[in-house]
Amino acid sequence: MERISTVSAMQARAKALRLNGRRIGLIPTMGYLHEGHLSLIDEAKKYSDITVLSIFVNPAQFAPNEDYNNYPGDIERDISLAEKRGVDIVFYPSVEEMYPDKQLTWINVETITEVLCGANREGHFRGVSTVVTKLFNIVKPHVAVFGQKDAQQAAVIQKMVDDLNMDVMIHIASIVREPDGLAMSSRNIRLTPEDRKNAVILSQVLFRAKEGILKGESIHSVLAAAIKDIQAVAHAELEYIEARSYPDLEPMTDFNNDLLIALATHFGNVRLIDNILIEKSS
Ligand code: AMP
Repeated sequence: MERISTVSAMQARAKALRLNGRRIGLIPTMGYLHEGHLSLIDEAKKYSDITVLSIFVNPAQFAPNEDYNNYPGDIERDISLAEKRGVDIVFYPSVEEMYPDKQLTWINVETITEVLCGANREGHFRGVSTVVTKLFNIVKPHVAVFGQKDAQQAAVIQKMVDDLNMDVMIHIASIVREPDGLAMSSRNIRLTPEDRKNAVILSQVLFRAKEGILKGESIHSVLAAAIKDIQAVAHAELEYIEARSYPDLEPMTDFNNDLLIALATHFGNVRLIDNILIEKSS
């Protein structure tokens, strides 16, 4: 497995791969890899013959009050996990390498970035769209794989690619969960043992909501039940739980189209997100 940490070396490598007719698959991550990330590698391998895993904790997508400085990381562990899973190139630039000068150019996807996580994370999606664009220009992928875990992010990236005619195919991989149902996240490690146990409520309310919707209960009543259940859990501070169309992220009151139920909840200073997609045909 190759390790590359400079933009110029990665661009040169990508150019050579393309000249040799290789299909490049990119998996962008912020590291501290878990099975959710590793499943994206498997997905990328289906659509490409060279996989590039990027590891970069992007300061531009964290607001000043957020956990950029506490974001977990262990580059040697990540590199070894990536190698075992069959990644061909790990690209892990420094902040100085990615942002050598003051960044004056930003990618801003409108409206769908202003709801859900975007309502409370000022500038978050601007940072995400910009760093993903930079990674596309550096790694030159044919295909990029993102997780449904960050459903809004996946919708934003797909819209950006469509609107700007970016020549990259986007694949969205299913959410990988712990045995008790908690969505895997690099942030789970920062939960106290008690909060880790209690965090199972997040997936439970989503599974129950889906069951309720499919049985014909109203969106309003399943959301009300979910809110009550989360509020009953010690230390759980619900930021939002909402039902929206997917991928347009319009508010939905009736189940007449594919539906996303998404939530964010804080346990102490750890912010967790989760979601479930309910297809109209299911
Ligand atoms: P992150 O390192 O948190 O920025 O995540 C990198 C990529 O992995 C994103 O596309 C996430 O949606 C995806 N991802 C994170 N957690 C999971 C999970 N539990 N299941 C599937 N994909 C995930």
